[in-house]
Amino acid sequence: MNLAQKDLKYIWHPCSQMKDYESFPPIVIDHGEGVYLYDMEGKEYIDIISSWWCNLLGHCNPEINNAVKKQLDTLEHVILANFSHKPVIELCQELSKSVPRGLTKFHFSDCGSSAVECALKMAFQYQYQTGQMKRTRFMCLSEGYHGETIGALAVGSLDMYAKIYQPLLMDTVRIPAPDCYRCPYHQNRENCQANCFEEAEKCFDRYADTTCAVIVEPLLQGSAGMRIYPPLYLKKLRTLCDQTGVMLIADEIATGFGRTGKMFACDHAAITPDIMCLSKGLTGGYLPMAIAAATDKVYEAFYADYKEGKAFMHSHTYSGNPLGCAAALAVQKILREQHILEHAALRAQYLHEKLLTRLSDHPNIGEIRHIGLINAMELVTDKKTKTGFDEKKRIGYEIYQRALAHGLILRPLGNVLYFNPPLTITEAEIDKAVYRCATAIEEVL
Ligand SMILES: *Cc1c(COP(=O)(O)O)cnc(C)c1O
Repeated sequence: MNLAQKDLKYIWHPCSQMKDYESFPPIVIDHGEGVYLYDMEGKEYIDIISSWWCNLLGHCNPEINNAVKKQLDTLEHVILANFSHKPVIELCQELSKSVPRGLTKFHFSDCGSSAVECALKMAFQYQYQTGQMKRTRFMCLSEGYHGETIGALAVGSLDMYAKIYQPLLMDTVRIPAPDCYRCPYHQNRENCQANCFEEAEKCFDRYADTTCAVIVEPLLQGSAGMRIYPPLYLKKLRTLCDQTGVMLIADEIATGFGRTGKMFACDHAAITPDIMCLSKGLTGGYLPMAIAAATDKVYEAFYADYKEGKAFMHSHTYSGNPLGCAAALAVQKILREQHILEHAALRAQYLHEKLLTRLSDHPNIGEIRHIGLINAMELVTDKKTKTGFDEKKRIGYEIYQRALAHGLILRPLGNVLYFNPPLTITEAEIDKAVYRCATAIEEVL
């Protein structure tokens, strides 16, 4: 039995129809270095999707490796209730300098979904404890994604993940999300006035009184196919939230730590959410860790004598795990000392121009949209009508397989192919990746 066969004997892979693996067995990765992964036979793959968007500074980054190794021989884990440790303290001190101004308190959990659950509960309890008991529901954007636990699914809108569980999910208000590629107002996202925000206004008119918070993926709806919308929309949302007492939760799990060109997507709009969720790039993709960051105002609504029962009784066993914190601290240090965002900005420009030159004339590529190093190519049957391929045809999946054969991990989101590489990718690696991507697309289409 080879390793892939052994894998299939035991492992139920995430987000997969396991029957597909009969004809397309898992690729067993042996090691990684920078943007590259290598399988057991030594074949090279460019990890253009940052291993589910979490690898920030390359695989086996020597500095992060050393930080984790050093921590490993000092302290591997300790309960974070009533106890603390240096890495978690130093990490929060660092983060407090880079998060949007006003976010001052950091609550730890262990994956993105759990940070979202934490934020939802925190918002609900905040409203309750400030006398807003009627605010019992959440608003979210259509096409949104916030993770796959039951609460997170309820504020997400992608049927693929949520539909079957509908009877289990709380009732949420869905604001029709901006759709800049197919803008119903015929504007473009570079200079529009976010007319589509009127949909949010309509929902707020009806439901703001009974809503405790609205949760959004700021600027980039990732799982929906890297849908990008303008900062003005966020600005308007912040203002409307302030006017109506609805809290704003920014899910920066995918967008945080430089993915959009600024440290956080909220920075493009110069806004501070009431609660911000972080994970994915937080540890550079090394260890599962997540944070819900809150403002003083939120924190203070929980601060009281014990007998008042206002504490946030929410915990995760691995909250603030020291190994995760050591990795995250190293990430913060590298981002700052090596001016990663400034360098990534230059290569973001380079990558986008390269993709435009090579692929924008292709009859089946409707739009190549980008923010930071993230670039998304939407596949269409007809550029004029912007009609997508029948999802059942799985064109993206076919291109994915071709790209793998050429040594590029190009996992699609339905009809959308995307690049979301580590921020440290070089121009030469971009050249190689674009070439492999174009070859795969042209072989299928
Ligand atoms: C990935 C993701 C999550 C969920 O994080 P997990 O660690 O997979 O639970 C939530 N929100 C957004 C925006 C994400 O991209």
